Amino acid sequence: MFTRILIANRGEIALRIIRACQELGIEAVVVYSEADRDAPYVQIADDAVCIGPAPAAKSYLHIPAIISAAEVADVDAIHPGYGFLAENAHFAEICADCGIAFIGPDPASMRQLGDKVQARQIAEKARVPLVPGSDGEIRDEAEAVKLADKIGYPVIIKAAAGGGGRGMRVAHNDISLHKAFAAARAEAEAAFKNGALYLEKYILEPRHVEVQIMADKSGNAVHFYERDCTIQRRHQKLIEESPCPVLEERTREELCKSALRLIQEARYHNAATVEFLLDRDKNFYFIEVNTRIQVEHPVTEMVTGHDLIKWQLRIAAGQPLNLRQRDIKHTGVSFECRINAEDPDRNYCPCPGKIERFIAPGGPGVRVDTHLAQGSVVSPYYDSMIAKLIVHQPTREQALATMKRALREFRIEPIKTTIPACLKILSHNLFVKNQVDTSFIERHMSG
Ligand code: ADP
Repeated sequence: MFTRILIANRGEIALRIIRACQELGIEAVVVYSEADRDAPYVQIADDAVCIGPAPAAKSYLHIPAIISAAEVADVDAIHPGYGFLAENAHFAEICADCGIAFIGPDPASMRQLGDKVQARQIAEKARVPLVPGSDGEIRDEAEAVKLADKIGYPVIIKAAAGGGGRGMRVAHNDISLHKAFAAARAEAEAAFKNGALYLEKYILEPRHVEVQIMADKSGNAVHFYERDCTIQRRHQKLIEESPCPVLEERTREELCKSALRLIQEARYHNAATVEFLLDRDKNFYFIEVNTRIQVEHPVTEMVTGHDLIKWQLRIAAGQPLNLRQRDIKHTGVSFECRINAEDPDRNYCPCPGKIERFIAPGGPGVRVDTHLAQGSVVSPYYDSMIAKLIVHQPTREQALATMKRALREFRIEPIKTTIPACLKILSHNLFVKNQVDTSFIERHMSG
């Protein structure tokens, strides 16, 4: 096992990784920007290295600064968390070149699955159902129109290198497809420096369901069941739950086995999430793979009792995944609400600032993953997610009651957060009755 690792991230996930390390007897060194100098988790880490000024391009995304920090701190490995450099294959390669283990997949499989066009091809080889769409990259608008006419509107144009809901455009006819193509290409080039696009049928009123996989370097792989992440705004998840409340046991088994086949076909190791859309008739279709730990991993930890970060560390250190699929059980229901410093009344625009009052909820069945405390400053430089509230109870009804109670207990003042929006969603009749799809917020929560 590693004796000392560097965490190339910040905020709640940095703290989450520090905690896993300390329980495994690994020293955790955290990097921080000047904006995060006073963050409480920097004190909790075994060591901390300043890597530069607040803007992420000059700190958390600045590879030379991070590699120097790793060398100065004399670590065996780097955990990238999620976001920042977590899915940057070039960074993983540099770590390998410097003799530092990267806690994640190897660069080749990251690159392959990170490209959504290639990921579709691997899914097809693994006999995983795909959203009908292009076989490869779509080169121009004429090709897009031809394919859309064949598979039928509506369609969605997506960036091969896409992430975070960017580089995606829906089109309902030939005219809007021309516009969508140009807009998606411009956005993809600006955001990912890669304008490659592909096309999929736009699934109507889908649910988003994803499977958590863990695989070791010897080819052993297991799944930890699914998460339902249907509640999204602008294609960004807000509330997640496990298990998916509308899946029948047979479909669940097929879904999880499909995800496993895909990961094994790619000869992948470490944590992965295979994402699917579920249509109104409960058919599932593969959309993409995330080659990192995800924000919403705690709901899986709550229902399965497994610590996924510890598994990431063990696997990266070359230990075997000594788990049999039949020994992984899921019990009860878990929800996660993302608490973002955003103003739901102003189209979820970021709302940074100093937190004068901070009281986290507690009690039976409640877990709070946050790096904040009273007096913390929410920086405008980074993602607006400031806390994750997670609950676990035997039934969905009980889990909902606990989540609502915990949200009401949570005090984060005076900044605006997504707490009131989450409460509103959890109390909505359609959410309670499991009759939601990915457009629920846009359709039922605006205004
Ligand atoms: P990203 O990597 O940017 O998050 P994804 O491919 O994971 O993009 O898609 C994000 C969300 O966009 C999905 O959860 C879903 O809500 C919507 N979406 C993506 N593809 C489709 C599709 N073919 N039909 C309908 N909705 C889609």
